[in-house]
Amino acid sequence: MTVDDNPGPTGTDRREARRVPRWRLLILGGTAEARALAAAVTARPDVAVASSLAGRVAEPRLPVGEVRIGGFGGAAGLAAWLDEHRIDAVVDATHPYAARMRVSGIEAAATAGVPHLRLERPGWTAQPGDRWHRVPDLPGAVAALPALGRRVLLTTGRQSLAAFAPLADLWFLARVVDAPDEPVPAHVRLLRSRGPYTVDGETDLIREHRIDVVVTKDSGGALTEAKLTAARRLGLPVLMIDRPAPARPPATVTTVDDAVRWLDRHLPAG
Ligand code: NAP
Repeated sequence: MTVDDNPGPTGTDRREARRVPRWRLLILGGTAEARALAAAVTARPDVAVASSLAGRVAEPRLPVGEVRIGGFGGAAGLAAWLDEHRIDAVVDATHPYAARMRVSGIEAAATAGVPHLRLERPGWTAQPGDRWHRVPDLPGAVAALPALGRRVLLTTGRQSLAAFAPLADLWFLARVVDAPDEPVPAHVRLLRSRGPYTVDGETDLIREHRIDVVVTKDSGGALTEAKLTAARRLGLPVLMIDRPAPARPPATVTTVDDAVRWLDRHLPAG
């Protein structure tokens, strides 16, 4: 066959060629932002996206695309995984309080020589009328709580329940996605639920259980913000546990759109 006889790639061949992704992206997930980023990047046919979840939640909300579940075995395990899967960029979109994973992600990306971005939504900002008491960490919250109220809406997650359990003079409505493995003491009532929440719903919940203080992490975002508005309307104090300090300041953005722009620079199309 002469060169002229060769018809060259057919339309189908060209479409097939475009389907082979040129880049591989790992998103460390477990947040709404991580799911939104996976959905946004899936629009690019030249990028294959894998999302990673810790496996803490029995029925997690899954992002689109490939998903892997479970820890990597620390920074060294993640670095090996990045090599093995020929990952070109890592976006750590884990929750602001997932402090260990954040450190692991930075170290592993440096070891593997892969660009790394932290996507972290901003914390909440107090409004006029808010009665927020900020504490640096969980032990600080346990120490401060008895001075603020007796009937507590506790929204800091299943893993924090054990820290508050010794406060047996207080009563807790503990809102969790999944029940803890261990039974809870009599002064803790579990409420299994998952956001988003509305201001009216949160107001009703607070009134129904005669809550007089709300305990929360400074998670930020709209999905769980309604409790803060409800507490403001009802004049209740809020005990706000600050975010863990960043381990090292990596490249950080606060929105999914900015993360997409960062990826466009680091994984260029064409
Ligand atoms: P963490 O303390 O920072 O992580 C503990 C260990 O869990 C990590 O060392 C890692 O294990 C594994 N891990 C965490 N995130 C992972 C991920 N996305 N993919 C694979 N392994 C992961 O985190 P955490 O506070 O327990 O949170 C666990 C997950 O829940 C995170 O993905 C986070 O986005 C989500 N989440 C957390 C909160 C919160 O308040 N902490 C709230 C909502 C959602 P190895 O060291 O073995 O790799």
